[in-house]
Amino acid sequence: MNYSVSDVLISAEQIAEKVRKLGEDIGRDYDGQDLMVIGILKGAVIFLSDLVRAIPATVEVSLDFMAVSSYGDSTKTSGIVRIVKDLDSSIKGRNILLVEDIVDTGLTLAYLVKLMHEREPRSLQICALLDKEERRRVHVPIRYRGFSIPDTFVVGYGLDYSGKWRGYPDIRTVEAAD
Ligand code: 5GP
Repeated sequence: MNYSVSDVLISAEQIAEKVRKLGEDIGRDYDGQDLMVIGILKGAVIFLSDLVRAIPATVEVSLDFMAVSSYGDSTKTSGIVRIVKDLDSSIKGRNILLVEDIVDTGLTLAYLVKLMHEREPRSLQICALLDKEERRRVHVPIRYRGFSIPDTFVVGYGLDYSGKWRGYPDIRTVEAAD
């Protein structure tokens, strides 16, 4: 099956406004504290780079990244997560904000949250740009949520389909082309 990019679901302006609001909320909650922002590669990179610039300078932000791959095809999660790239630094005793592009079944984040807790951070919260709530199979506590979206495959603003379409400035749906 071939796929093509279809309608804009969330515009660049809507994303910018939401990121500004999330940055404000995070700034309020961590005012005067350190915050280690952990991006889940690769999908979260564009969101994360906008988000950290929206967090006020009263929060001392540092960055690290983790890459995971789930066994399964590109549009489905199997729930079995493999760490492809681990963090460079220790999270013990630190405030951690895990930044994810989209939460679907929740299996990826549930696994990561468990792994992170074993490393004894001071606090651990999740920020996700998109949330497909109706697809959730395990509970994940999302402290900062961008948009709830319906059960449809989306690309753009960092999200890909088979490595394509990450560079769109907005979030778009994908449809079968033939
Ligand atoms: P979960 O473990 O929550 O089911 O899956 C999360 C991961 O699946 C996301 O980090 C993302 O890589 C991928 N994913 C789930 N839904 C979508 C979608 O609509 N578009 C894209 N591009 N990736 C998705």
